Amino acid sequence: MFSNKQCFQQAFLKKLEMTYGKSFRESTIYDQYHTLGNMVREYISSNWIATNEKQRSSHIKQVYYLSIEFLLGKLLGQNLTNLGIREVVREGLQELGIDLEDMEGIEADAGLGNGGLGRLAACFLDSLASSNLPGHGCGIRYKHGLFDQKIVDGFQVELPEQWLRHGNAWEVRKVDEAVEISFWGEVETLYDKGRLTFRHIHSETIMAVPYDIPVIGYQTPVVNTLRLWNAEPSRFPVHKDVMEYKRDTESVSEFLYPDDTHEDGKVLRLKQQYFLVSASLQSIVLSHRKTYGTLKNFHEKVAIHINDTHPVLAIPELMRILMDEEHMGWDEAWTITTNTISYTNHTTLSEALEKWSVHLFQPLLPRIYMIVQEINERFCKQLWESYPGDWRKIEQMAIIAHDMVKMAHLALVGSYRVNGVAKLHTEILKNREMKDFYEVYPEKFNNKTNGITHRRWLLKANPQLSSAITDAIGSSWVHHPSDLEKLMPYAFDSGFKETIKRVRQERKTILAEIIQCQTGIIIDDTSIFDVQVKRLHAYKRQLLNVLHIMYLYNRLKEEKSFEIYPRTFIFGAKASPGYYYAKKIIKLINSLADKVNNDPQTSPFLKVVFLENYRVSLAEYVFPAADVSEQISTASKEASGTGNMKFMMNGALTIGTLDGANVEIFERVGSDNMFIFGLTAEEVLHYEQNGGYRSNDYYHYDKRIQQVLEQLLNGFFPNSFDLFESIYDSLLMQNDQYYVLRDFGSYTLAQEKVNTAYQSQETWLEKSIINTAQSGYFSSDRTIREYADEIWGIRSLEQGTFV
Ligand SMILES: *Cc1c(COP(=O)(O)O)cnc(C)c1O
Repeated sequence: MFSNKQCFQQAFLKKLEMTYGKSFRESTIYDQYHTLGNMVREYISSNWIATNEKQRSSHIKQVYYLSIEFLLGKLLGQNLTNLGIREVVREGLQELGIDLEDMEGIEADAGLGNGGLGRLAACFLDSLASSNLPGHGCGIRYKHGLFDQKIVDGFQVELPEQWLRHGNAWEVRKVDEAVEISFWGEVETLYDKGRLTFRHIHSETIMAVPYDIPVIGYQTPVVNTLRLWNAEPSRFPVHKDVMEYKRDTESVSEFLYPDDTHEDGKVLRLKQQYFLVSASLQSIVLSHRKTYGTLKNFHEKVAIHINDTHPVLAIPELMRILMDEEHMGWDEAWTITTNTISYTNHTTLSEALEKWSVHLFQPLLPRIYMIVQEINERFCKQLWESYPGDWRKIEQMAIIAHDMVKMAHLALVGSYRVNGVAKLHTEILKNREMKDFYEVYPEKFNNKTNGITHRRWLLKANPQLSSAITDAIGSSWVHHPSDLEKLMPYAFDSGFKETIKRVRQERKTILAEIIQCQTGIIIDDTSIFDVQVKRLHAYKRQLLNVLHIMYLYNRLKEEKSFEIYPRTFIFGAKASPGYYYAKKIIKLINSLADKVNNDPQTSPFLKVVFLENYRVSLAEYVFPAADVSEQISTASKEASGTGNMKFMMNGALTIGTLDGANVEIFERVGSDNMFIFGLTAEEVLHYEQNGGYRSNDYYHYDKRIQQVLEQLLNGFFPNSFDLFESIYDSLLMQNDQYYVLRDFGSYTLAQEKVNTAYQSQETWLEKSIINTAQSGYFSSDRTIREYADEIWGIRSLEQGTFV
């Protein structure tokens, strides 16, 4: 079917006619897209089945990655790339007058995530399959993914996202594998053959129906599964309004919560979490029992990983199944559970640590709550033995305290491994945030520095750079990304540098066209593209970037002799709809863009662009075009970051703080190839412990700061009235929690170095090539190999024995 373009064309036309009962001439691009999608799915279906059977019959251990978010983006292009048929398809379609990129363009992004956490899960799926590892994803099939962002008068407006509007070519509904999830009701205690047993009665049930999406590895027959659960009515209750029941049920998988950095506390969110966990565990247990006939070896054959605490109820849910359904005793069930589940922590921000009120938790999940209580009691007893009399410590470490259930504590107690996502982050967990737990369970803690799939973020997103690399060093880097290091000598090869220069220019021109289409702003595609794209959050400090641009503008206006190399500052960011401060920053960026872009005196040197609706598919055009990568979070606040890695891999130079994985980028490229500034994590933590920071001092003694802060209020931005007062107040009245003013001076100096360095094009290109060459470590293939070897204990299917 895909062996050459003629075969492909024939199969394509036949399939199109048979499916839609239309001739090719009458068909729409959506008909054509779905035809191709279905062909690809059929093409891999035998490998998909074979992978399942092979994984089952070989009795190798499997891992299930539970995540409340999977930020997949578009799948068609990635699947064609991984199958190695993108060129055949492109040529075949071209002869029919269809542009493959147009077709890929109409596919909706699967935006079932907010940002880094969900995107990490998606990268991991790709790396698992491409490494022939038996690893599957479990998530929720949200009807509406992350909202679409529109900018109206400079303000963010949110619209519901509708990725399923034209159907989803990749999913397969498996209604015969549906399971029931129970909420509310009571727990009945009874004696059965002399032992205490528990039954959840009078509950309300929801049907969880799985939709399976194939996860196609790169040049391998392995096809793993991402199982997304859809909430549907099960048995209609007699005593309740039928329509209301249907609405309530379906609401469980209706919306993705638009924030993963704020603890929310809404009962629907807890329902979603248990829905995901219970459906996934029931189906994993069913499949395990089918293969082995027992659950006694569950932990030897299954590893379950929880991505942050959102799926932490996997711990009590597995206990429930083993005790209430398998009739195991507590100790046996606990041994199995705590040898099955491992946990990744993603943040140290206290507002993001999940807690649930007992008053909300207990009625919704009565049996699960009982089990959590029992886990807590046993844990506190153990603590009492280690720390007799230290009730303060025990109170602080307890899973349930002051009528709150602390999800991170449950995860720490009930899992066998806990990891942070970058070296610095893991050290902060061990030495500060989770110090008490590290003392009790030192063996559980480990680090797994995040990664990104180089197949999407380099091979697919930047074919121009990928070809240049392959022409220079061969294609081994695609399978072994650490081979990118072979590029090191080419950093000083004038021919290669010339190629890279051309490639980089080509990518910048492509982005400039997208920007013009989307915003109407014409930018100089030879200017420095300085990019900050990521969720909008105070700790990520988009504000620092803005204040620096205002300062540049002021100097350009006031100092005749002041010159800079032309620069285009590009932003992309969604703010959570209820996060008013973040939304003000978006308005501020757009006001700044209006101001500087329309000033004929400065606009040849300075442009500001806000890209609407930042998402995976747009990101694939942004990273390849960036010269400068802004990674300027307050040190200690960004757990890892993965955007930083995508930029680096595509040859952008980082201006950043020593935070998250920036530290490890710095270890690899050194100070010649990166612009480091600002407080260190240690200095920030010292301020936080001992005080001593006064933002007002920086205002009073630094005229540059004084000027830009006054401009927030004094009409510098037309029609802004008191719009930006809350920003001004956060910096001066609330003592600038994220040290924006503290770091302003050193950021400015680092930016001056960027300005100078860019003008030595030859050495800038060297630095760019060195960044790409050193980026192989940040492939998620490396990350996944570490998880597989050091946490999950899983091994690859032998390719030779496959199919
Ligand atoms: C990589 C990525 C992120 C994470 O970016 P950070 O800079 O690490 O916060 C968020 N959103 C999208 C669409 C991404 O591709």
